[in-house]
Amino acid sequence: MLQIYNTLTRQKEYFRPLHEGHVGMYVCGPTVYGDAHLGHARPAITFDLLYRYLMHLGYKVRYVRNITDVGHLEHDADSGEDKIAKKARLEQLEPMEVVQYFTNRYHRDMEALNVLPPSIEPHASGHIIEQIAFVQKILDNGYAYISNGSVYMDVEKYAKDYPYGKLSGRNLEDIKTETRELDGQEEKKHSFDFALWKKAAPEHIMHWPSPWSEGFPGWHMECSTMGTKYLGEEFDIHGGGMDLMFPHHEAEIAQSCAALGHDTVKYWMHNNMITIAGKKMGKSYHNFITLDQFFKGEHELLSKPFSPMTIRFFILMAHYRSTVDFSSEALEAAEKGLGRLQETWNRLMKLQPSDKSTVEIGNLSERCEEAMDDDLNSPIVISHLFESAKIINTIADGKGTISAEDLKQLKDVWRTYVVDILGLRMEETGTEANGSMDALKGAVDMLLNMRLEAKRNKDWTTSDRIRNELTALGFQIKDTKDGFEWTI
Ligand code: ZN
Repeated sequence: MLQIYNTLTRQKEYFRPLHEGHVGMYVCGPTVYGDAHLGHARPAITFDLLYRYLMHLGYKVRYVRNITDVGHLEHDADSGEDKIAKKARLEQLEPMEVVQYFTNRYHRDMEALNVLPPSIEPHASGHIIEQIAFVQKILDNGYAYISNGSVYMDVEKYAKDYPYGKLSGRNLEDIKTETRELDGQEEKKHSFDFALWKKAAPEHIMHWPSPWSEGFPGWHMECSTMGTKYLGEEFDIHGGGMDLMFPHHEAEIAQSCAALGHDTVKYWMHNNMITIAGKKMGKSYHNFITLDQFFKGEHELLSKPFSPMTIRFFILMAHYRSTVDFSSEALEAAEKGLGRLQETWNRLMKLQPSDKSTVEIGNLSERCEEAMDDDLNSPIVISHLFESAKIINTIADGKGTISAEDLKQLKDVWRTYVVDILGLRMEETGTEANGSMDALKGAVDMLLNMRLEAKRNKDWTTSDRIRNELTALGFQIKDTKDGFEWTI
């Protein structure tokens, strides 16, 4: 039975959905004013793994992942201007053109990483009316105040009735000393009060009418609003990166409790961060590498381009709650590992059954499931798969046989875990009804059969020539007991 680590209770808990057979899951999505980088890939892949596994377990999952397009997550340090608005102004674009451009590019990157699209992908800008209503509820309940056209959460008042800081393990005293939020300082009762609605400055081009001012929602409001709109006042899972735990998720809990009188989320899940050469990714370190740069190899920290599947495998090789340190060498190691997985896959798909098995395939399926049930332990799943590679190689090398039943079971486990759950795209050599691939396969097989014939006739010149020329073209040829194997 699936156990997941709940950040709120700080322990692994058995997953029991609120509504039998159904799971509601919300994950904080990207802010779309720039290309997605490695830091975006980790939560996307982590929660894609969870989404895929929940579906494998037979749940009907409603997966909501938002698009933050009001751009208030990070204001420009100098002008205090909304980043999307600033980009739009500089490039003379409609703000929604900027949003659409980067949303399209985000989708393209996610598709390359084989991250499944969510069931609903709501935009913050498309839910302004709902956000205003949510702010109004908090005001009505007395946990917010209006100041100069903006609305702020009254954190001190809230903390008297609810535990503020429970998710990140902070108390109000810690938060008081930690908060250096200067934005709107003169309007707020306390520095740690956060904005639910902000009055727009005249140069601010993204703004909407509200009962308090022409303005825009505060940066935590969209997730409280859209989560409950699409998943109900109580839902199962809320996920995101650990960096969002405070203040974003803490504020979300406060807003929801202040408006509705209770928690909305049963299980909070957070993936750990990716560091680059031991350093946090951040603007001041100049170490942001976009996914596009990875795919093209265009960054000084990269030795070469890395395929999206290598990035995905690299992330899955670590448990989602442990830190991952990126380096070009680590990615090269992941690339080799993925190559070995693909090679084993190719060999497995070509195996022929015999009357009986001389190998023990064991309880591979159960062991993989056990690892996934243990808080999505993908590295253990991968190690089980590599262990079964030994069996596959034994049979492929002619040192053992496998029955049709065992072979089917082995193939099923590999398909289920490698393709469906880990979401790794495997190249199907010759088994896919792919016209050009079949033609290529036919041609190479023909050449290698000619080589076999040449060898039988002791025509070493022809045999070596075919081998060398195919190798030069990028084919890897391996002689086996029954003939040959090749990959590109
Ligand atoms: Zn969020």
